[in-house]
Amino acid sequence: MAVKHLPTGIVHQEKKDGTTACGVDTRKNNNHWVVTQLKATCEKGGCKS
Ligand SMILES: [Zn+2]
Repeated sequence: MAVKHLPTGIVHQEKKDGTTACGVDTRKNNNHWVVTQLKATCEKGGCKS
């Protein structure tokens, strides 16, 4: 599943535990994240496929 970080507009891959594949905890600022069908644009390790 992909999630978009609204303040930056960057799309990350999300893992089942609620963190992004690059290690950001999406639960800390839950309102900053929305589920999206877009492809991940994050360049960090894990998100980039
Ligand atoms: Zn990422």
